[in-house]
Amino acid sequence: MNADQSGEGANQQDEHILPPPSRDQNNLPSGQHRRPPVMQEPVLVLNATFEPINVTAVRRAMVLLLKGVAQAEELNHHEVHSTSRVMKVPSVIRLLAYRHIPQQTRALSRKNILLRDRNTCQFCGGIFPASELTLDHVVLRSRGGRSSWENLVACCYQCNNRKGDRTPEEAGIKLARRPRPFTLYTSRQLMRLIGHRDEKWRKYLFY
Ligand SMILES: [Zn+2]
Repeated sequence: MNADQSGEGANQQDEHILPPPSRDQNNLPSGQHRRPPVMQEPVLVLNATFEPINVTAVRRAMVLLLKGVAQAEELNHHEVHSTSRVMKVPSVIRLLAYRHIPQQTRALSRKNILLRDRNTCQFCGGIFPASELTLDHVVLRSRGGRSSWENLVACCYQCNNRKGDRTPEEAGIKLARRPRPFTLYTSRQLMRLIGHRDEKWRKYLFY
């Protein structure tokens, strides 16, 4: 996605939609995630129309508030102190001017594919840190498979070795789900996933 098309507030932080789970977090029951430092905590970004459009980090959200581009709709319990003032830390912000969000998909990249697949191997269903995942061409390039959203999936090294040069059918393994492009719909699903952790987000996400 081109940041210029829908403005800095809407897109610049695309990469922050879902931080890849670390191994530590995977071992914790849900709701007990280790909390990131305050300035890196996720903030839900709403369009002027209250439509959720993105997730950014506190640091970026505070800049948008200071620039007068957005206003805080929900606060979390933290405060940030600077030499001249104390600012309450937002949990949800809303852009003051409406931004058109294009429906086009994101750039095809390793990072975005892992994000789409939520760091989950699409063959065995295991969740791994990014360093333990590779990208698998479902239909091999040598057999005419393309490097596309529909043909690339997150895959652990074990499954990648098991599959080898075969198609999933030949290897007797099944894809967890059909790979799709990363659309605004995918982003919304990820927002809902994160929203489960933050009560203040829910009323904006579960409509
Ligand atoms: Zn696997």
